[in-house]
Amino acid sequence: MIAAVLFDLDDTLLDRTGSLRSFLEDQYGRFSARLGSASFQQWQERFLELDQRGYVPKSEVYPKILKAFGGDLSIAELLLADYSERCCEHARGFPHMRETLEQLRSEGLQLGIITNGWTLFQTRHINALGLDELVDACLISEAEQLRKPDARLFARAGARVGVSLQDCLFIGDNPVADILGAQGAGMQTAWIRRGLDWPADAAPNPGDTLQELHEVVELVQDSRGVSR
Ligand SMILES: [Mg+2]
Repeated sequence: MIAAVLFDLDDTLLDRTGSLRSFLEDQYGRFSARLGSASFQQWQERFLELDQRGYVPKSEVYPKILKAFGGDLSIAELLLADYSERCCEHARGFPHMRETLEQLRSEGLQLGIITNGWTLFQTRHINALGLDELVDACLISEAEQLRKPDARLFARAGARVGVSLQDCLFIGDNPVADILGAQGAGMQTAWIRRGLDWPADAAPNPGDTLQELHEVVELVQDSRGVSR
């Protein structure tokens, strides 16, 4: 029976693209005189393209985008530091994030987050969304010195919430790092697809597929035989 639900952060709880779009608008407004020829629309679209849903470090994205639009290359570091400090001010969760976590908690489940990323940056986002008060454990790869899909990180999270791995359900958007990683550690899984298809070159999806975050509640209730 499911006794703990563990979540990925970016693109699972945190609407990363929505948050980033909002931050970029703010940053563009403050630095536009030094960003070269790009209109805001062009700047934003190119940034999102270079960013690859967060998988390319911003230390690479800023020099590339400044170069592309003939901006002032000497401010790449400044833009990066600004991003690290202020992106969290634009953090927004997906619809029903808070209610979903509160509902799960009210049913006695342990809750946690496992995220790959920088400790300070991820902590700022976790706190900005109030997640620090909604979950029992947060594991950030830099602090833990382990990254998803490493099974040891999932095992550590299970231990942190005091639930055996087969009774943990992991929710994430990344097929390999999240879903196959959690499965490899012995957890149950649900993939939140975010409009994408499961990659053809990956092992098959071992668990459920969700469209929206709040569907987790029904999934857990069904597994626990709770009548609704
Ligand atoms: Mg993610």
